Amino acid sequence: MSSVNLPENLIIAWLRQEKREKPLFLVGGSVRDFLLQREFKDYDFLLEGDCFLFVSRLKEQFGGKAVFNQRLLTATYKIKGLVFDFATARKEHYARPGILPQVRPTTWQEDLKRRDFTINTLVIPLLKEGWGKVINLLGGKEDLEHRLIRILHKQSFYDDPTRILRAIRYRNRFSFSLEKKTLQYLEQSWPYLQNVSPRRRFKEWQLLCAEEEVVKNIEDIFVLGGWSYFMGGLSFQQSLWEKENRAIAKDSFPKELRPWYLYLLIFLAREPEMLEQISAYWGLYPQEKKGLKQTLILLAKQNQFKRLKWRQLLTELKELPPEGTYYLFRQNPNWGENWESFYQEILANKMPLQGKDLFELGLKPGPEMGRLLRCLEKYYQEDLFQTPQEGLKLAKRLIKEDFNE
Ligand code: ATP
Ligand code: MG
Repeated sequence: MSSVNLPENLIIAWLRQEKREKPLFLVGGSVRDFLLQREFKDYDFLLEGDCFLFVSRLKEQFGGKAVFNQRLLTATYKIKGLVFDFATARKEHYARPGILPQVRPTTWQEDLKRRDFTINTLVIPLLKEGWGKVINLLGGKEDLEHRLIRILHKQSFYDDPTRILRAIRYRNRFSFSLEKKTLQYLEQSWPYLQNVSPRRRFKEWQLLCAEEEVVKNIEDIFVLGGWSYFMGGLSFQQSLWEKENRAIAKDSFPKELRPWYLYLLIFLAREPEMLEQISAYWGLYPQEKKGLKQTLILLAKQNQFKRLKWRQLLTELKELPPEGTYYLFRQNPNWGENWESFYQEILANKMPLQGKDLFELGLKPGPEMGRLLRCLEKYYQEDLFQTPQEGLKLAKRLIKEDFNE
């Protein structure tokens, strides 16, 4: 096989002049994406020997940042917006299926055998001998050409059931097919997801939702028979999905919002009573759960929004995570068309007077000033004044009238 022209950057250039003899390869997603001529942000490297020492040398040479994972024998090195993941060639041992494996160093050939799919086992040597020649030990080249996702051995999904979700992501991202036997094993392996920790299950949901093909990913969970094993008791009603939810899901959401949150809301909105169960099954953090809960409560009260003054509504929404507000925004077209400006309005919805502004009316800090401020806040929310000047005028009147809260 002829050499390929790797993208040039300072690390690749350094490795070339380094003329290393001990195994060092570009591997996994980087090689796959490179051969598919897809852009890739992260470089995955596989090496024999101590990856910590290697990365420390890079850091000494070029600066940048390094993070080491002693348990997994991996290191991440970041410099000038580039990310390089290094892994010492390792063998994995699963004490129990689904849990994170114990690892020990091995040869690079052995390392490739523990990987998820053949398309991720191609390597490109960055060595004195054979620089840039793609090495295909496990049939990844042919599978890449035939656009097939194939596991390396039949225990694969049992050892690590998160590979089921990885397979779905790759299939839809690249429009690949699942090889026949792989598909068969995949369909039988969903129950093993019960062996995986809640938070790892949740991480897979996050990753599925972060993909451009999220709608297909979600449908695949159902079509491939995994809904009841992966979605913690949430239901999938096909007719509802086709009639309504798919359209919501197909919308492109503002980039700053967390996709997993919005897609979960689509399902939870139909059965809010499932919040406890899914939170436990996915190990959601209290903060994540709280925001979902507040959103679901407001969703249930939607028909009462009409009775609120505009500012009162904005104040209610301020308590929600932005995703919750966005979900409600989409359901209430009368709130406006422009999400950005609506959200800015919520953030800016503050009563324009503070204690110190009341000094000029002869008030001093104390309970009376507190009472007056609360009173002004209420009137502001009811749209009874807008500017600080109007607020001061109202405050004067209130003092004269010996106001009550
Ligand atoms: P992506 O573009 O989604 O990052 P990737 O292939 O780079 O795709 P990573 O999750 O970054 O995926 O992992 C890097 C490599 O590590 C993979 O290509 C694969 O070889 C290996 N790998 C990752 N997760 C697993 C797993 N659960 N089981 C086996 N091998 C894995
Ligand atoms: Mg990657």
